[in-house]
Amino acid sequence: MHSRQESFVAHKFGGSSLADAARIERVARILAERQERQVIVVSAMQGATDALIGLLRRAAARDEGWTSDWSDLRERHVLAARAIAGPAAEGLLATLEEEFQRLRELLHAQALVGYLSDDLLDLVQGLGEVWSSLLVQAALRARGLDCVRLDARAVLVVEHGELGATVDWDESQGKLANLKLRDEPRVVVTGFVARTRAGRVTTLGRNGSDYSGAIFAALFGAIELHIWTDVDGVLSADPRVVPEAMLVERLSYDEACELSYFGAKVIHPQTMAPAIARGIPIIIRNTFNPDHPGTLISSEPSQVPPVKGVTTFAGLALLDIAGAGMMGVPGTAERAFSALKQAGVSVVMISQGSSEHSICCVIREKDAPAAERAVREAFGREIDRRQMEGVSTRTGVAALAVVGDGMAGTPGTAARLFAALGRARVNVRAIAQGASERNISVAIDAADATRALRAVHAGYYLSAQTISVGLVGPGNVGQALVRQLAATRERLLRELRIDLRLRAVASSRAMWLGEPGAAPLEALEALRTRPQALDMARFADHVRADHVPHAVVLDCSASGVVADRYSSWLARGIHVVVANKQAGAGDLARYQAIRAAEAAGGAKWRYEATVGAGLPILCTLRDLVDTGDQLHSVEGILSGTLAWLFNHHDGTEPFSELVRRAKAEGYTEPDPRDDLSGLDVARKLVILARECGWTTSLADVQVEGLVPDELAGIPLEQFMARLGELDQPMATRLAAAKSHGMVLRYAARLTRDGEARVGVVEVPADHALAHGRLTDNLVQFTTERYRANPLVVRGPGAGPEVTAAGVYADLLRIAAGLGSGA
Ligand code: ADP
Ligand code: ASP
Ligand code: MG
Repeated sequence: MHSRQESFVAHKFGGSSLADAARIERVARILAERQERQVIVVSAMQGATDALIGLLRRAAARDEGWTSDWSDLRERHVLAARAIAGPAAEGLLATLEEEFQRLRELLHAQALVGYLSDDLLDLVQGLGEVWSSLLVQAALRARGLDCVRLDARAVLVVEHGELGATVDWDESQGKLANLKLRDEPRVVVTGFVARTRAGRVTTLGRNGSDYSGAIFAALFGAIELHIWTDVDGVLSADPRVVPEAMLVERLSYDEACELSYFGAKVIHPQTMAPAIARGIPIIIRNTFNPDHPGTLISSEPSQVPPVKGVTTFAGLALLDIAGAGMMGVPGTAERAFSALKQAGVSVVMISQGSSEHSICCVIREKDAPAAERAVREAFGREIDRRQMEGVSTRTGVAALAVVGDGMAGTPGTAARLFAALGRARVNVRAIAQGASERNISVAIDAADATRALRAVHAGYYLSAQTISVGLVGPGNVGQALVRQLAATRERLLRELRIDLRLRAVASSRAMWLGEPGAAPLEALEALRTRPQALDMARFADHVRADHVPHAVVLDCSASGVVADRYSSWLARGIHVVVANKQAGAGDLARYQAIRAAEAAGGAKWRYEATVGAGLPILCTLRDLVDTGDQLHSVEGILSGTLAWLFNHHDGTEPFSELVRRAKAEGYTEPDPRDDLSGLDVARKLVILARECGWTTSLADVQVEGLVPDELAGIPLEQFMARLGELDQPMATRLAAAKSHGMVLRYAARLTRDGEARVGVVEVPADHALAHGRLTDNLVQFTTERYRANPLVVRGPGAGPEVTAAGVYADLLRIAAGLGSGA
């Protein structure tokens, strides 16, 4: 194992990160802030490679204009060098001057010869990397950092073959070892360029610097490869075509290979091989947003979400070999592919034609004439004898690929692709089988590519804020929530671009797993009329899977069994929003496990509705704590039922009468003892205490119940019949309070010295706790900042509508955070 101190970390900067002096200085700053040994692989300044190739072409065509292009390119580099190196620029300027004069001579020679030689092209198109490496080195030195420069042409030996450039590792490693760079703190390396075994200067192919990054990461034994570009990481589609594409946080090497092979330009396909072979993690990240973690590409396969990205790849052609007479004859396909191979045509995808009477494959458009010729020649006899109908090519074709490790195990992935293409009226010319199950690709007309990409991207719900919602507990609160979802869905979609989809509902006995597009209200109806046997594992799978990037479970039950599942849901990336108090107030170990799962996984657990229903009590407390306020005490009326009873208990009516009325009006639980015991209030106090960061449990709360022991265990009717036994003690307490000029309230109190108590208290009539009306809940925070005049949150704190609204508000707060990539 390498320690950070001694190992190299490789950084590759693309042309977009090196476009001018200011950007190069930004790169130097990023590197300077990192404590590690660095191998820094650079591309040419943005556009420099294109400019060099253009220069050569113009010179070869004897177009005099090349001299002014040459001056422009020189000027751009000289200006950057002056800005970067300041007074120390002299040496750098002299070197650049020499370089540009040599280039000028080469171009003159080129103009004399009058045709473009491959040797010269190879030599000249890589010069941009030589110059940018000089600039980056100068920028690091200007910051007082030690760094040496390594010209890849001196060490990297490659051979060109069918699969592009392959590295001669032994040779390259040997040459590198001779340079004895192991103890250097920073080595700036030219990307893109290399040398052949025969000693000719060459390049790794356009966009080859990513590959250089991986090669030098391998040669230096780097522990990580950071590829710095101008987007936050790999996105679910090309952002220039699909603006709502979203960041993919993690990819397996395989997924990244497929995406880049099929055209995700952000990373070059060959990059992966040296990294995969050595297990070096690749991090794609943004030079212009360096604090963003980017996309991590590593050997860890990831199944969630099953579809990671969609790409298109244009400039292709379909080659169709048709003939009823020859199909089924063994060896036909081999003959076709070997003819293509001999003609130097590489087959991008092998495809199944729409009928079984043909062989169909996708090739590059530029290879189409050669391919057609080669196959015609190979099957000349069969064509003459009319055993074969013919060979045809169709140009103007693009491939569209859907990529993700989890696809193979997710039924319906292909169906969704074709449904999306069908809706967008895109004609599928051929279906291609990727070698792996992590890719489905189709050949379509290039003219349809943009529409197809957008449609398929949306079809897999890869737009930023599509959220799959599962509801547990369709009781009063749950039903109110579904109504609220139904009523606001359209507006959220239109105005906030949040697409909430209720896709599963579970009660304590049954569940419903939804079809795409089901409206929220249909879910409740379906649960009633077409219930399925309850299976919480399947419920969670359904909420999490099915291509929707975000998932939330809303728990409106009161079940401890459901609360037991929170931590596993969070660990799977499912957000959990609850009105259920079990987890917040229950067993401390479970509470801590949930918190730990939340911290580890990034999915959030929210429970605002567990205290004061829809009132913003917990979020207020969290803001106070997060902004560094010191809490002195929290006091409150936390039960709507008890609030109502004590607001009305003024001696004109016996307490038992009030309880009967409250029950009749639906202000109490079916068994009023559940309210009168004070336990519900104590639970809320525990939730508040834990929100302050304390490890309080229910057993730590001193609870004064209003139900005498002898009435606690008896059946409900008997209790109701003996309700009058509560009156005498309550009347006595009320009289005492009145004699002190006070009123009675049932309150909860928590202080920073550890007091946690719920019970009857006497308070002055002008005290905040005495101010509630009807079933109002009220919480008063006394803090360092709100000391003389405490902060009070007050309002209706019970009832299905406001409780559901509390859950809904949490859900929207989570949704609002999803687009940020944080
Ligand atoms: P560099 O100059 O850093 O090598 P590139 O232009 O080669 O940068 O690659 C980065 C660009 O790739 C992005 O600006 C983006 O427009 C484009 N791109 C295409 N497909 C994707 C994708 N799936 N994810 C991210 N970027 C993509
Ligand atoms: N400069 C080279 C190119 O433009 C290599 C690279 O940037 O990756 O192709
Ligand atoms: Mg690139």
